[in-house]
Amino acid sequence: MVIRGVVEKVIENRGEHTFTIHGVHVVLAGPACLINHSCDPNCMHVLNESGTFDIVARRDIASDEQITHDTSAYEYEVAHFSQECLCGSDICRGEVKGWKDLTKEERESIREYAIPFLQHISDLEVLADDSYVESREHSG
Ligand SMILES: [Zn+2]
Repeated sequence: MVIRGVVEKVIENRGEHTFTIHGVHVVLAGPACLINHSCDPNCMHVLNESGTFDIVARRDIASDEQITHDTSAYEYEVAHFSQECLCGSDICRGEVKGWKDLTKEERESIREYAIPFLQHISDLEVLADDSYVESREHSG
């Protein structure tokens, strides 16, 4: 556990420092809103018993290392900051974008740490894809 997720306030519209939790835009208390994006983040979001997300390490973090998370893994849409990514990781996607703008391959590459809500949206999109449904029907 790096930062305990506690909702400070619920707001109507998505903002630069908001998180979207179950379709609701919130500001988390403490330093959570100040974490920078990385395409190879050292932290991920894990649902807690209060219904929001804790920031949890996904690997060891050095004492002088910046805490990072992957915006694409918790936001459906990014609209409030420059989309050019400056994370500098070897697997940088080049821009910060929401889950909806990721390619299928990009989604698969972050699926292990993306929040369940976004994974559920992808599952629904697959079900809504006629060609996928047809192929399933033909295969029995
Ligand atoms: Zn990047």
